[in-house]
Amino acid sequence: MPKKRGFQTIRGMRDILSHDQVIWQWVMEVCRKAAFAYGFSEIETPVLEQAELFRRGIGQETDIVKKEVFSFKDQGGEFLSLRPEFTASIARSYIEHGLVNQPKPLKLFQIGSCFRHERPQSGRLRQFHQFNAEIIGSDAAEADAEAITLSYVILRDLGLNAAVQVNSIGTRDSRKLYIKKLKSFYQTKTRYICQDCKQRFKTNPLRMLDCKKRKCTEYIMDAPQIIDYLDEASKNHLMKILEYLDAFDLPYVLNPQIVRGLDYYNRTAFEIWLKDDDSGSRCGALGGGGRYDGLIEMLGGHETPACGFALGLDRIVGKIREKNIKVPVHARVDIFLAQIGDEAGKKALVIFDKLRCLGYNIMFNLSKRSLKQQLETANRLQVGLTLILGEKEVLSNEILIKEMDAGAQESVPLDRLEKELQKRLK
Ligand code: AMP
Repeated sequence: MPKKRGFQTIRGMRDILSHDQVIWQWVMEVCRKAAFAYGFSEIETPVLEQAELFRRGIGQETDIVKKEVFSFKDQGGEFLSLRPEFTASIARSYIEHGLVNQPKPLKLFQIGSCFRHERPQSGRLRQFHQFNAEIIGSDAAEADAEAITLSYVILRDLGLNAAVQVNSIGTRDSRKLYIKKLKSFYQTKTRYICQDCKQRFKTNPLRMLDCKKRKCTEYIMDAPQIIDYLDEASKNHLMKILEYLDAFDLPYVLNPQIVRGLDYYNRTAFEIWLKDDDSGSRCGALGGGGRYDGLIEMLGGHETPACGFALGLDRIVGKIREKNIKVPVHARVDIFLAQIGDEAGKKALVIFDKLRCLGYNIMFNLSKRSLKQQLETANRLQVGLTLILGEKEVLSNEILIKEMDAGAQESVPLDRLEKELQKRLK
């Protein structure tokens, strides 16, 4: 009889097992540390939102909303979506909680899962993780420069050599003229472009520049470039950002094809890529972002300029692993507490909690009963000291302190344990 297939993770989704957590925790810690240093504070929005938020916020004609958002009607008949990104949720939260009254610019970051029903392939999952940062309430080029710099320094701190691709897509008005030029360029070519681009030609022509299909990329190279149609203010805005990037010696290139897929962008659009990625497994951009001055107003708030970016943590973790980047190990365990027998187990539970509360980095495993197994764990953790509590020690109110390097061990009265630890762990 064929073996029955067990439950499995859903296509495009995966477990992140505990042996991978070392990298994940480090990546998130580096993101958090850098974000705090740049004056951001953390926020957490729900995974589910009203479907309409993304339809309005991201745009009806974008790939994300048209094809990729996981949406469903809940038991109460409400139409909900799993967040495909963070910006619309953060803008919703900003409006809902009256964060408009906070000092500007307001810098917020969030780390969590996003969901897009994309065709699973290398670097493309249906549940993936992002570090997302937003600077709300500033239209200054300094804010964009800060966002770009933060995305870069996080990757640099993780040992990844990244470079930024920057563009400006101007304002809604200046874009109108450009889109007219773009459409007239494509007018005679619609027969030759892919099915998606045929649709984009009608509904979201800017997105044609983002197409990765071979037959479309040739045309993209010859298409008019948005940078030639920028209004004066957008041009100056971009120049000022570049001055900051130059001052920081941040590697960047101008790429007129970076338009980002979402409706709410204006002026700055950027992506961050691994430089000289010779690994062979190109996973796409490690992050991207830009300016979205119209979004908050479009969602019902006041007119509020803002910009931000998101880094794709799954891709970043993949690159760290691929490049064998050494992950710093901290959270060292100094003491292992071993116990033998029921009475010792009960007493050890109390001693363990006391030492832990006193701030010792101590580990204990009540479910492991054999001393051999427990000493193996202590050796693996490379602890300096192992405390051993057997039945004899329970009766005499003592505990055995074993110095792992020297191999020496000594029985000490329990009421002297703390003093002994202080002495030995100096
Ligand atoms: P986006 O909002 O699409 O620009 O996404 C920002 C970053 O998130 C990208 O540069 C990727 O690193 C990451 N990302 C986006 N979509 C996915 C996906 N389906 N799977 C894995 N990572 C993704």
